[in-house]
Amino acid sequence: MRQYIINLAKTMSIWNKRYPLKFIQMEMCLQEKKKELQIPIMSLREIQHISTKMPKPLNEDELRLFLEFHHEIRALVYFKDLPDFIILDTQWLSDAFKCIVTAEKFRKDVSRHRMKGKLKDLNVRGILHSDVLEGIFKDENNILYQQDQHKDDILNIMEKFDIIIPAPRESLDEKDYYYVPCMVKSKPEKDIYEMFNVTNDNCKKSTWLCFKFMFLPPHLINHLIASLSRKFKIAELDATEQKKGQIALFRGTVVFELHKSTKLRKLILMTCPNFIQIQILELKKEIKRGMYKDIAAFVTEEIIKIISRRFKMSNVKFDKKWKCGLKQPESVTGLNDFSEKQIIKYHCEKCQATHKFTDEWSDLQNESLCITKEEFNFTKMGMIVLNILADVLYDLLKQYRPNLPPRSDCDITYLYREHRNLNKHIPSNLWGGTWQTIPNTDIAIGDDIERIRLTRNELQHSKTFNLDDNRFNDLCNIIGHLLKRFDQNIKPVSRYTDRLNETLAKTCSEEEVISVENEI
Ligand SMILES: [Zn+2]
Repeated sequence: MRQYIINLAKTMSIWNKRYPLKFIQMEMCLQEKKKELQIPIMSLREIQHISTKMPKPLNEDELRLFLEFHHEIRALVYFKDLPDFIILDTQWLSDAFKCIVTAEKFRKDVSRHRMKGKLKDLNVRGILHSDVLEGIFKDENNILYQQDQHKDDILNIMEKFDIIIPAPRESLDEKDYYYVPCMVKSKPEKDIYEMFNVTNDNCKKSTWLCFKFMFLPPHLINHLIASLSRKFKIAELDATEQKKGQIALFRGTVVFELHKSTKLRKLILMTCPNFIQIQILELKKEIKRGMYKDIAAFVTEEIIKIISRRFKMSNVKFDKKWKCGLKQPESVTGLNDFSEKQIIKYHCEKCQATHKFTDEWSDLQNESLCITKEEFNFTKMGMIVLNILADVLYDLLKQYRPNLPPRSDCDITYLYREHRNLNKHIPSNLWGGTWQTIPNTDIAIGDDIERIRLTRNELQHSKTFNLDDNRFNDLCNIIGHLLKRFDQNIKPVSRYTDRLNETLAKTCSEEEVISVENEI
């Protein structure tokens, strides 16, 4: 028996590591299971059950350790938050991934013909439609045939491996679809600046922040695209310019909106041989020192995380450099080191000119971004709208619709629409009024729902993020009254008016200014 275990252990990648006997027992049981099962998937509960039948059962902590360890050495796939979906055979999973990302080979010509456009979307633009996904689970020629019950789990796992990115939906009824960065083959049809109608006159371009590698692992960029997509939306091209809804996800180039609603700040992410680089397009403000230090830090951190945690490579190193943002982004020359010394000008050999140096990526920040009174007002009002007023609409709706999605999935646009569909609290002058058509004396609940929508729209349509004192005080006044009415009507645990006063009394940080600009 002893010799058998030693031989068995030698064939395993864990040989030479401290490895308890209990684990070997467990591993043998799972090997058996893997052969028995039609598809190698088990739940944590089932594995727990197996364990209790062993001569030396694993306790809960040991079992967790067992699973984490085997996930680590890639013998199985286990995520703590997906306990019902433990995959005993990594080869099976990789085959499952393969039949999803290479969905071109549907045998049934009918469905193939019907989905021609959508299959092309996948193979050229890296967009995976739900119809194509459903087709895969109906195709008897692949291993996912009739495994529909596992569809969500497989998609969740693919998301965890950064293979697919869920596309943001405009409304909750829209069908799911996904971006698959590794499948994108199309390159930008023309200059990326031209695609967004960006010129040196209407837009300030930051310098390029370059991550220069000795060796750039081929899929690093796809993981980085996934990381950035979790935080920012991929930009859409102008509808007039291209087909509607086409997004700026190309082979080697992706553009993200850093300000979701105003679209006044964009991030370009590009790969060139052996480097990854980013540039910010600033369509409204002046670029100031240290303005993009958070973005620089975020991208750097994500790259480090991908290299160390996902790839587990300790030998991949990179240096950060910068280069002029005005000439062709593809150029690999003209890279400069960041220096400790502050410079304000530099001579650019590419442009044959002297440029001002803003040091926008720097975290050595001497002057802080000063927040103006108007920006401060805007931020305050944004916080009131995003937190308190949205809560009011949510709490009110919940009284009639107990199965609402979680609050974090519901924004004012959605909540307002639901109230309108519900048609329970009809405004005195019907739906869709303006400030002018709703007199102060109209104080029905429906009128206040309209006031919430109008306040939110006023902020959302502002392109400057400024709110002057007069308008700010007017809005505070209107909101103060309406919250008092909702306090009486909804009777929330903590009163809305108290929360309003708390928000008004607080100062706001630069981060809050930026986050309100992003979310409103
Ligand atoms: Zn230059």
